Amino acid sequence: MSRVIVVGGGLAGLATAYFLGQRAEVTVLEAAPRAGGKLLTEARDGFLLEGGPDAFVTYKPAALELCRELGLELLETLPARPRSLVLDRGRLTPVPEGLMGVIPSRWLPMAMTPLLSWTGKLRMLADLWLPARRESSEESLAEFLRRRLGGEIVERLADPLLAGIYGAPADCLSSRCLFPRLLALEEKHRSLIVGVLRQPARARGPEMLGLRSGMSGLAEALQSRVNGRLKVRQRVEQVLPGQVRVGGEWIQADSVVLATPAPESARLLGPGALSEQLTGIAYQKVATVALGFHRRQVIHPLDSHGFVVPTRQAGLISACTWSSSKFPGRVPASCVLLRAYVRNPQESDEELAGAVVQELRPLLKLIGEPLLTRVFRWENPVYRVGHGELVSELDRQAPPGLFLTGSAYRGVGVPDVIEQARSTAERVRGFPASLDKLPG
Ligand SMILES: Cc1cc2nc3c(=O)[nH]c(=O)nc-3n(C[C@H](O)[C@H](O)[C@H](O)COP(=O)(O)OP(=O)(O)OC[C@H]3O[C@@H](n4cnc5c(N)ncnc54)[C@H](O)[C@@H]3O)c2cc1C
Repeated sequence: MSRVIVVGGGLAGLATAYFLGQRAEVTVLEAAPRAGGKLLTEARDGFLLEGGPDAFVTYKPAALELCRELGLELLETLPARPRSLVLDRGRLTPVPEGLMGVIPSRWLPMAMTPLLSWTGKLRMLADLWLPARRESSEESLAEFLRRRLGGEIVERLADPLLAGIYGAPADCLSSRCLFPRLLALEEKHRSLIVGVLRQPARARGPEMLGLRSGMSGLAEALQSRVNGRLKVRQRVEQVLPGQVRVGGEWIQADSVVLATPAPESARLLGPGALSEQLTGIAYQKVATVALGFHRRQVIHPLDSHGFVVPTRQAGLISACTWSSSKFPGRVPASCVLLRAYVRNPQESDEELAGAVVQELRPLLKLIGEPLLTRVFRWENPVYRVGHGELVSELDRQAPPGLFLTGSAYRGVGVPDVIEQARSTAERVRGFPASLDKLPG
């Protein structure tokens, strides 16, 4: 049986080990005292806090399928109309209904929205007759959307919605890696609006789902299937094809899967072309700040799921989810839970939480101080223009028996990471099991 070492016990590493199943002798080595990485749920004083992801999309089926397979209890989001707001010139304004991603699919809400001027709305309609682009060079997401739909919709709607998810202004995000479906719409239908209207109706059902247990439940379920093959507090020190060093000792394997963040993978592999490519993947520090309040301390009705902030707008917060309005059963009676996102946090936890409260105070009419604060800090990959070429190059550079997987490469969301783990497991299974076929 083939021996496989998976370095990193986040979602990518655990899911790869799970998909490898019993057909390989797998060991997962995780540096932290717990597995799960960014899947982190904490119960505190009756509040259920999500430190990293709190939900996943269902139109990419990998996460939904895996959660069902693992028997996890899915949690639908609470109804809210409008579902999201955008901070526009100091006011929380509804995101118009009927957006498919960021492309309008309904006329009336777009015509009525105060987010766009009449000029901006007319410019958006130019998408109906503008020709398709012929050049093959990659555009940033903002360039692509600006060319088709105009600048206003990018600055006031697309940029805040996308930057909230992908962690950087739409001006530097890769259109090819993050929105290949939009590029395909232009290629096939020329107009994005026509393309969206011609899409077959999506299967009925919720667009986003969380887990009753919180997202840690997914890590725990995978961990229990991986059985005794997960070892925590095992920081890998170096990786060569066919072997890894941990606690000063080398362990041999037929295949090594690196499911660590790209900068850590580069460090583990040491100097060389592969590491150089890996360090080309940008990462950004982010923090989520959970704030619990008594309901009476928040004058705002909190009748949406939260709001996003355009990147050009100076401020600390890039988005804020009203977790208790999004999911049922996450707070004690008569309390609410907010979760703010901050990019590049510089402050200490206490200063950061204080500054976030000050920024939210006038918007939500907050009275007094929160009952609970908790700051979670992470580093997240940012897919810049050219990311696709970088990843193809990594594939070419990787020596036989060494596999890279995780959110750094082919999609940042939970379903993307699971899908990559499934395909990594398939590639590992297809790799010759004999040690003497490996270099080194
Ligand atoms: C704040 C935030 C909110 C998010 N929200 C959503 C959302 O709502 N929906 C969604 O779909 N996605 C969301 N995501 C994205 C999603 O959570 C991640 O893409 C996914 O969890 C990444 O999994 P991973 O295994 O690739 O990386 P990680 O979770 O970072 O796992 C890497 C693991 O490697 C370990 N490690 C590092 N170095 C070593 C070493 N030397 N030896 C051994 N182990 C090592 C780490 O300890 C860690 O456990 C969010 C991400 C963040 C940060």
